[in-house]
Amino acid sequence: APTIGVLALQGAVIEHIRHLEEVGARAIPVRKQSELDAVDGLVLPGGESTTMSRLLDVYQMYEPVAERIGAGMPVYGSCAGMILLASQVVDTRADATWFSAIDMTVRRNAFGRQLDSFEADLVVDPLGPEPLRTVFIRAPWVETVGPGVEVLARVRASDGRDHAVAVRQGNALATSFHPEVTDDVRIHRYFLDMARAATS
Ligand code: GLN
Repeated sequence: APTIGVLALQGAVIEHIRHLEEVGARAIPVRKQSELDAVDGLVLPGGESTTMSRLLDVYQMYEPVAERIGAGMPVYGSCAGMILLASQVVDTRADATWFSAIDMTVRRNAFGRQLDSFEADLVVDPLGPEPLRTVFIRAPWVETVGPGVEVLARVRASDGRDHAVAVRQGNALATSFHPEVTDDVRIHRYFLDMARAATS
């Protein structure tokens, strides 16, 4: 089975590791380059994107992760992790940096002013017709995507519009929501399948 790392500088690490193990991956926390070298795919968990960006710098992990993503390593970002995969971010700190792995503009804390946290049942395209219970916690949404980006799910927000909350471009997957806090492991299985396809 592929080995999947979970970036473990901050945020929801252990929940992702448990879900990845449940779908049959080897899962390890990643804090340094030698650990990154051992993985076939990487999860960027939820947490706080500006803090994670700073810690990536402090631990000198920004460049190594960017290099692996550039070389085609499958990567999955949830919530703050989605922000780190964006090519542009609205409403962040001036000194935050991100990986530009997905051609999209992400709005940080997009649902925040009206509704900090909420849950919704969403059909996520590649997971089949059965809706996925999704949990949003001070979540971003995807404002615009480039031509190479597939939108996998949308949610109706209190502005009355549908906003993209799950996207994929090549080997990069991102969700605004937190699949690691529910019992449904389909997102993790889907990501593991991406890693299997990339390593075979
Ligand atoms: N609001 C956080 C940020 O901007 C993300 C929240 C989360 O990951 N649950 O990074």
